[in-house]
Amino acid sequence: MAERALRAQIIATARQMNTCGLNRGKSGNVSARWRDGFLITPSGLAYASTRPQDIVAMTFDGEARGTLPPSSEWRFHRALYATRPEVGAVVHAHASFATTLACLGRDIPAFHYMVAVAGGNDIRCAPYATFGTQQLADHVLSALEGRKACLLANHGMIAVGSCLQGALALAVEVEALAEQYWRALQIGPPNLLSEAEMERVLAKFATYGTAPPGRGGRPGGHSRPRS
Ligand SMILES: [Zn+2]
Repeated sequence: MAERALRAQIIATARQMNTCGLNRGKSGNVSARWRDGFLITPSGLAYASTRPQDIVAMTFDGEARGTLPPSSEWRFHRALYATRPEVGAVVHAHASFATTLACLGRDIPAFHYMVAVAGGNDIRCAPYATFGTQQLADHVLSALEGRKACLLANHGMIAVGSCLQGALALAVEVEALAEQYWRALQIGPPNLLSEAEMERVLAKFATYGTAPPGRGGRPGGHSRPRS
């Protein structure tokens, strides 16, 4: 994909993040891997008025090329691209239900089989650290070990994918799970699925993820059953 097209796709993803209710205002940020670095939304600019030339190009050394400063959260984006070769895009949002659970420091356990969509039998909540710090980036890497999504204590959530579409779709899925878990908690502690059952679900998801197009899966590894 050409650089300009990818810049436009980053903006479209950020706008979609807000129009679908996942995020509000200028909070959150979106990035995509590009050559030997990544492209990321700029700091403090409304997504509606962001233009392709406003997207900031960054190297793994933290060098920024652009007319605007990069998102203040560029450090955890960089950390993910530098250590997870399969990650092609990162979506960070202050989604309401995910953030509510994150403010209680709660992981999302295997209360629903779809928790496996994030790669394991739970969705971890990374400990709190000040936004924009390397400490937060370190916490994010640990919480995302073997996972594609995590919560950030007293902050929000992160989803990664091989592409922007996949990362956004996963963020939406995690927010739906966070809402369902939150609702279940209102009535009482939900029944949790066993580790063995989650292993079975994860194995099934792996198969769905590699199915050819038109047969229940799409290339890119982020497809999943709709049931
Ligand atoms: Zn944030």
